[in-house]
Amino acid sequence: MNERPSLDRLYPPMPAAIGADHRDPFAAAVPPIYQTSLFLFDSYAELEDVFAGRSAKPIYSRGDNPTVRLLEQKIAEMEGAEAARAFSSGMGAIAATVLAFVRPGDRIVTVRHVYSDAFRFFEKVLKRFGILVDYIDGTDTERMIAAIPGARLVYLESPTSMVFRLQNLPAIAQAAREHDVLTIVDNSWATPLFQRPLDLGIDIVIHAASKYLGGQSDTVAGLVAGSRDHIATINREIYPYTGAKLSPFEAWLVLRNIETLPLRMQHHHEAGLEVARWLAAQDQVDRVMHPAFTDHPGARTLRGYGGIFSFEVSKAVDIVAFVDALRLIRIGVSWGGPESLVVPAKAALSISPETNVFARFNVSDRTIRLNVGLNKAKDLIADLNQAFVAASRPLHR
Ligand SMILES: *Cc1c(COP(=O)(O)O)cnc(C)c1O
Repeated sequence: MNERPSLDRLYPPMPAAIGADHRDPFAAAVPPIYQTSLFLFDSYAELEDVFAGRSAKPIYSRGDNPTVRLLEQKIAEMEGAEAARAFSSGMGAIAATVLAFVRPGDRIVTVRHVYSDAFRFFEKVLKRFGILVDYIDGTDTERMIAAIPGARLVYLESPTSMVFRLQNLPAIAQAAREHDVLTIVDNSWATPLFQRPLDLGIDIVIHAASKYLGGQSDTVAGLVAGSRDHIATINREIYPYTGAKLSPFEAWLVLRNIETLPLRMQHHHEAGLEVARWLAAQDQVDRVMHPAFTDHPGARTLRGYGGIFSFEVSKAVDIVAFVDALRLIRIGVSWGGPESLVVPAKAALSISPETNVFARFNVSDRTIRLNVGLNKAKDLIADLNQAFVAASRPLHR
């Protein structure tokens, strides 16, 4: 038998370092951080067994690390997936997943208002390799389905960034399956607690774990979950070569913070809704873009709401004065941590207009994105209220 190690086998499924069958020798309640780049072998035979895939053991932490593996198993369990991979950022996860499946000349289908750097990745990287990208209004299920035949994959985000528009995930997933087209969804907003895309027929789920899963604004991380086959494709085609692996310490931070995810999400859901409803009742607010305020079929697959949404202020509000008048609510990008934050679209629209998803798909410069962190709704409402008073133009008084 002349069994040669294949590249697939260099990255085999690895058993959990700690778990039912591999217990920590000291019964540590919290998993240890395997802060090591490499793992040692007792003999040539052991090394060859691992290279040939006859036994599973980590080799080098760019491929596998036991602490990182625990997080991969955790997200797979939460999303109902067979397997998962961790990355050094949400963008690392998005770029690697898409690149694992596309070829020059392919066409991909995605939604307008997709996460801004996913849009730049499509525009700057995929297009350079001759890949066509169709941006469809994701709320229009018929148009989404019509775009599917002949595409390589459909990249979704429900709700989308900045304007929080939904897609009908089960209907799009079913149409894609009929045409043998892969479906990927960014589920960072809902988290697996409020939406489980794989249960709806979607193939691959992606998380910016920098947001709710990390939950503390202290780390940047990405996760991908799906079938064993799809994760094996990512491992074989790209994962080791981009080198966008998660560090053991950051995997540990995300593992730790996932423990409080249900409590945090309950707060974001409740406080977010209360603030959104208050905003919707204000004269200075023209509309609130929150998935609770729509009867789109995409709302039916949500079991709860993330705490980030946006609203459009009326012309009576001076946006700069409003944002500068906020005290409790800080100015900052990202979301999912304890801080409550605003990002005015007006500022985001000023960034590199040629690859600006907000400019391209006509986001109003009167839009303000609000991340309801772990503050109390009544304190946030008081802050918003005093800022409206401070920023309303004299003609309005
Ligand atoms: C932040 C974000 C990302 C990217 O995650 P990073 O960890 O910052 O690379 C992807 N998708 C959504 C919806 C995000 O908000």
